[in-house]
Amino acid sequence: MSNMLQPDLIFRNARIIDGTGSPSTTGDLAISGDRLLDLGEIGNLHGEQEIDIEGRVVCPGFVDTHTHDDRVLLTDPDLNCKVSQGVTTVVTGNCGISLAPLKMQGRPPAPLDLLGRHPDEFFHGFADYLKALDDDPPSLNAICQVGHTTLRASVMDSYDRPATSDEIGKMEDMLEKSLEAGSCGMSTGLFYPPARSAPTGEVIALAGILHAHGALHTTHMRDEGDRITESLEETFSIGSDSQVPIVISHHKCSGTSCHGRSVETLAMIDRARMKQPLGLDAYPYTAGSTVLDANRHLRAEKVLITWSEPMPDAAGRDLSAIAAEMGVTEQDAVEALIPGGGIFFMMDEKDVRRILAYPQTMIGSDGLPSDMHPHPRLWGTFPRVLGHYARDVGLFSLEEAVRKMTSLPAACFGIKDRGVLKPGNFADLVVFDPGTINDSSTYENSIQPARGIHQVMVNGQ
Ligand code: ZN
Repeated sequence: MSNMLQPDLIFRNARIIDGTGSPSTTGDLAISGDRLLDLGEIGNLHGEQEIDIEGRVVCPGFVDTHTHDDRVLLTDPDLNCKVSQGVTTVVTGNCGISLAPLKMQGRPPAPLDLLGRHPDEFFHGFADYLKALDDDPPSLNAICQVGHTTLRASVMDSYDRPATSDEIGKMEDMLEKSLEAGSCGMSTGLFYPPARSAPTGEVIALAGILHAHGALHTTHMRDEGDRITESLEETFSIGSDSQVPIVISHHKCSGTSCHGRSVETLAMIDRARMKQPLGLDAYPYTAGSTVLDANRHLRAEKVLITWSEPMPDAAGRDLSAIAAEMGVTEQDAVEALIPGGGIFFMMDEKDVRRILAYPQTMIGSDGLPSDMHPHPRLWGTFPRVLGHYARDVGLFSLEEAVRKMTSLPAACFGIKDRGVLKPGNFADLVVFDPGTINDSSTYENSIQPARGIHQVMVNGQ
């Protein structure tokens, strides 16, 4: 029972961080149904239930801007890996891969196989996918993108070429229907083989549909290494030609030859932002994680295997140790492990900190929930930013860290009535202890809930 006079729940004695970046205040929070009723000095309101949270932080629930949770939302709807970090909204369909709309025969090409290894695990229509989520809702909110690679896999018989105008027409039609069904935009993964041969013009053609629907475009750029500035220019041109807001996914400078170049890339992003809507996200680690291929390990200083279909026991082990044990080169070991995935150590800590500290950088975990031995970001991203980088390293204030996870992504992705604590907004909340919050997951032991998160509330539940 909820009414205006008696809230369902009141949190007493909170340090309130409202998500805007403003300094915290102290007070109480009243919740009624799925909404925030009042906060701060709430007068003589009394709740059906009242909890003294003893000066801990209350802030808006976190938005994980970069996930591959498309399928796990249906198969593991509790999503403990995310809720245990304080995440209350996930953005799916990143890096060009989405669970819908896909119509194909045979095994989906990597990295689409990160979401499902059989076409039956995908949905023909985006409306069917969203209906499945509505019929059996997960424990948190999701906003869902269409993947360009998913569209390519549906209409093309080979990926090593540009799409023909007929194929682009079919993709435009599928994208249009998906946006009408409720998708928020389209991602590309031009870095990966199934989309690498797509010219800029193919993306711009599809982005025209995004523009018509007020949707956005996110991208795992063509190159995050030696040709990163060319990739940034391509990304900016897609946004400016089609007049569509852009989000650069998991911004990084990959490979030792590229270390230090975040000075240059952030200056480029800063200049481009004067002319067009442009956002970016990052995860707080120096290692990335994705599928194995014949070359990717060559750019990394070290590789840990996260899964392997032919050699399941390799998960969690170092590639060099596996190769030594097999008595083969690392190259031959990789060939034997494919299809599979890895954690690639290839970034510089200084770049990671510079990118995280950039005021427009949002936080996205890029966690891979189906991996047997996942990257620790799957369970640790948000507490690591709050505990390690804000409190311990002092990279920014706690209020600024929270802003990067709440109001900033809510504004970027057009998420209404969330991301800021104010009366009338949805009651998506996190209560955490600012003295103890931190990640527990490590590269060795990666499936570990974070420390210091006390309560997580999604839509008042
Ligand atoms: Zn990616």
